[in-house]
Amino acid sequence: MASPSPVAHETPDPSFAELIAARPQLSAHAFDGLMVEGVPLHVIAKAAGTPTWVYSAGTLRRRYRALAEALKNAGLDAGVHYAVKANDSLAVLRVLAKEGAGADVVSGGELMTVMAGGIPASRTVFSGVGKSAAEIRYALEQGIYQLNAESIEEVEIIDAIAQSLGVKAPVAIRVNPDVDARTHAKITTGKAENKFGIAIDDALALYTRMAAMPGIRPIGVATHIGSQITSGMAAYRAAYARVAELVHAIRAHNLPIERVDCGGGLGITYRDELPPPPEALAGAIATTLGGLGLPVMIEPGRWIAGPSGLLLTSVVLQKQGRGRRFVVLDAAMNDLIRPAMYEAWHGILPVAPARLTATAAAADVVGPVCESSDIFAKDRAMPDLPPGELVALLDAGAYGAVMSSTYNARPLAAQVLVDGERWAVIRPRQSMEELLAGQSVPDWIGAS
Ligand SMILES: *Cc1c(COP(=O)(O)O)cnc(C)c1O
Repeated sequence: MASPSPVAHETPDPSFAELIAARPQLSAHAFDGLMVEGVPLHVIAKAAGTPTWVYSAGTLRRRYRALAEALKNAGLDAGVHYAVKANDSLAVLRVLAKEGAGADVVSGGELMTVMAGGIPASRTVFSGVGKSAAEIRYALEQGIYQLNAESIEEVEIIDAIAQSLGVKAPVAIRVNPDVDARTHAKITTGKAENKFGIAIDDALALYTRMAAMPGIRPIGVATHIGSQITSGMAAYRAAYARVAELVHAIRAHNLPIERVDCGGGLGITYRDELPPPPEALAGAIATTLGGLGLPVMIEPGRWIAGPSGLLLTSVVLQKQGRGRRFVVLDAAMNDLIRPAMYEAWHGILPVAPARLTATAAAADVVGPVCESSDIFAKDRAMPDLPPGELVALLDAGAYGAVMSSTYNARPLAAQVLVDGERWAVIRPRQSMEELLAGQSVPDWIGAS
């Protein structure tokens, strides 16, 4: 199988010191090496093993507050609905619940998860292009805050289910504003050819029909144009301006509207991207939608969770190929699939203090899975890393553990939450017994 071509970068990779300096929860201790908040990573590795996801509670709080404050300072009445698909650990959800976060979910399973994490359905938005009837019924029974419908077909299903339950479903329509967020093709959602939302030109007609349906309470308009948006605010502003026009049209038809959902997608710095800061997003919302006098909401996932997590892993061995050095880790693409799936760049730091300052030379950092695409980094400057050395893959808090699989019969990695000097295992490593649990062989196949 062909390996994905590595993305050519025009600028040199950030140094270890630069990677640490740009991430407030990380520090390099002279004796303990790389630390997350007040906890040395070697302590976690010794107790919990590797590979292990390590999340910083302080970073989750700091980033949630930065978003909430930017929206408030822009004069907006705004809710932050954390997009749970980025990281659905109960402990992560509880940290954010205690900050006052709402949630954005894309399945009945995620709705159940957020409620277990402490975010009630009454603060949760249900998005997604194909909600099943069972999921819609469950959400309505739980008292969902808002269902984002993506088609007339879906609105009709919601109407029928709501009527059967004797309720009015609070429905916003997700519109596709046909803007190009200029992000990776696999994570852009707001162009006309994408499967998401209904064409904005059809939205008024749908909204009008919704207002006449006995099981529907039309409450607003939603949009979400893509993920890892780092190219500035132009696409956001264009999308929100189109949404504002739609809101004016809805009002001109004397139809009710209670709020606007501005979606998520704000990018983060993995390498040297310069994503717009929360103040820029808040400003774009304020200038385009602020004049409507409606509450707004945003649905950030990656921006809150991504920088808060890392994947702690050990070197299995180093091997020399033809003029290449391969550092083989005990983490693989089944744990963190972003490099294989999106050609994503993740910072990689050694943990031991001596390795952080040792001379480095180019190496390919890879996992042990039997796929050519199981590569975390090509030609990355790395010190000598003998077997057993610890390495951290940075910015893995979003779309990390949630996208893990057990491919190659590799158990799901452990998860740890750090908060100041304290830390705890929030999900133990999957055991081999759990990996096989639930399987059976039909009798008629016969004994082995
Ligand atoms: C995935 C998703 C989000 C979150 O996207 P991020 O890039 O993680 O901020 C928000 N809203 C919807 C509808 C989504 O599908």
